Amino acid sequence: MYNLIKSNCTFVKFILKQFNPTYNLKTLDKNEKEHLTPEMALQILKNGNERFVNNLEADRNLLEQVNATRDGQSPFAIILSCIDSRTSAELIFDQGLGDIFSVRIAGNVINTDVIGSMEYACKLANSKLIVVLGHTKCGAIKGACDFVELGSLTELLTKIQPAVYAEKTTPTELRNSKNLQFVNNVSAINVKKSVQAILDRSYILEQMVASGAIGIVGGMYDIETGKVDFYEDIHH
Ligand SMILES: [Zn+2]
Repeated sequence: MYNLIKSNCTFVKFILKQFNPTYNLKTLDKNEKEHLTPEMALQILKNGNERFVNNLEADRNLLEQVNATRDGQSPFAIILSCIDSRTSAELIFDQGLGDIFSVRIAGNVINTDVIGSMEYACKLANSKLIVVLGHTKCGAIKGACDFVELGSLTELLTKIQPAVYAEKTTPTELRNSKNLQFVNNVSAINVKKSVQAILDRSYILEQMVASGAIGIVGGMYDIETGKVDFYEDIHH
């Protein structure tokens, strides 16, 4: 019990420090991360995005963080996001070196290698949270909406097609990339399908989520405001 209280106090202090942009935010070490729950990990990301949106980037000494992580890393979350140059996870969640695993692929699609990377992060490196992050006005989603065919991109875009077909609210004549509402609807469905696909395709991650060891959550980054909206509470 004492440890629990002590760790909670440590965490409350840590969370409060995150709202003070002049505080030199350090990378979590293994010991601090041990006390993190998936909900706490999500809160750290929400706080980071809040700082980003309010232009209150935490004071970080990245070189110091190079030194702090020289003997190993202990990232608290793994974030799958698009390759879009405006959606770097470290920037939009205001995180430093050694804080998060970042997987980036056009349209934030799932494949075996992405899932393998998540299994590594959660099972072997002890990350507490998986985030699948889509974004508005996504070029890859637009390509899927228009059935673009180009080299190997064709195969990548087929992974988004189930989300295009699952969008039922837009009439046939408006189902193209010029209709941003349609594009953003498909992006949202694509994120939710990806979250489900991770659980369906990885027994390891599904079990970790079921036991509460990790959480998984979808979210959407708004290209126009810099804000991330998480869709729902973490799956347990
Ligand atoms: Zn994109």
